[in-house]
Amino acid sequence: MIVAMKRGVSGEELKDFIALLERQGLRIHCSQGLTQTVLGLVGDTSGVDEEALLAHHLVEKVLRVQEPYKRANRLFHPEDTRIDVPGPDGGLRHIGAGELGIIAGPCSVESREQIVLVAESVKKAGAGFLRGGVFKPRTSPYSFQGLGCKGLDLLLAAKRETGLPIVTEIMGIHQLEVFDGVDIIQVGARNMQNFTLLRELGRCRKPILLKRGLASTITELLMAAEYIMSGGNDRIILCERGIRTFDTYTRNTLDLSSIPALKRQSHLPVIVDPSHATGLAWMVPAMARAAVAAGADGLILEVHNNPEAALCDGEQSITLESFASLMGVLERYAEIEGKSLYRNPGTP
Ligand code: PEP
Ligand code: MN
Repeated sequence: MIVAMKRGVSGEELKDFIALLERQGLRIHCSQGLTQTVLGLVGDTSGVDEEALLAHHLVEKVLRVQEPYKRANRLFHPEDTRIDVPGPDGGLRHIGAGELGIIAGPCSVESREQIVLVAESVKKAGAGFLRGGVFKPRTSPYSFQGLGCKGLDLLLAAKRETGLPIVTEIMGIHQLEVFDGVDIIQVGARNMQNFTLLRELGRCRKPILLKRGLASTITELLMAAEYIMSGGNDRIILCERGIRTFDTYTRNTLDLSSIPALKRQSHLPVIVDPSHATGLAWMVPAMARAAVAAGADGLILEVHNNPEAALCDGEQSITLESFASLMGVLERYAEIEGKSLYRNPGTP
């Protein structure tokens, strides 16, 4: 249930009103927007007298929420959420609410030379964040599994050298203890419904990049976000990365319609991963442009200095040159969408 407060309600009045609701056994999620305060009532609201609430002099509107996700629901938070990520230089990078966040880097960290070279190039081309997998969820146990903690050290070295905040995937709760220097924790498609992991991430205070599961519905993705949010961590970036369909031409099918759908249902930023969605490097720039044109708040792209020699996902990784030229085009797309593209200090 949502209770929209009248404009001009004082802090003291709000506190008393929340206490009144809490005495009825409800948990209250308070979202203070620029112009209005909205309260989300979580718990069993069947006994709440809607008429009585509406008659209260501080209340403007009362709505029953049909959807099972509450905190992720746009009704609970009408304005777009912006995720702020501090860079090591102290400056803030943003994703969402009019700011396009571009995350770029290799599928996997392979060596110091590789990750630093890619980091420097994507930074120069205008990326706001560096990606690099170190704990890799591979279909085969015999494939390269990532460099693990050693890879994380290399990723941290690239962060130090370039000032780019880093994004990497977590596979299990036990890894959280080595994620101190990680700026955005990625939950991969295969772990979208690892509820134990999601609950634990609800207790951590880092932004979470939550990827849509291979065969998950939009509602299931939002419910996964709800798991994290119900633990108190509201800093979630949703990611469309393609879903399984009958077609095998592309690695997955990029569901572009999930962008407007998710943005309608939720206030959380939505980014797109055209690399895993298509599996084909030549298709990535077109799908990246399409995603921005469809309203995405950002992109996560696999970029490699030598895709042919990549230890993982080379066929879907674009080159450093292709990334730089895509960034030039995206700038124009961002402008049409009324969004701004983060520029690192010193980028042309
Ligand atoms: C990745 O980003 O490297 C990855 C494994 O992605 P996904 O979980 O979307 O397959
Ligand atoms: Mn990959």
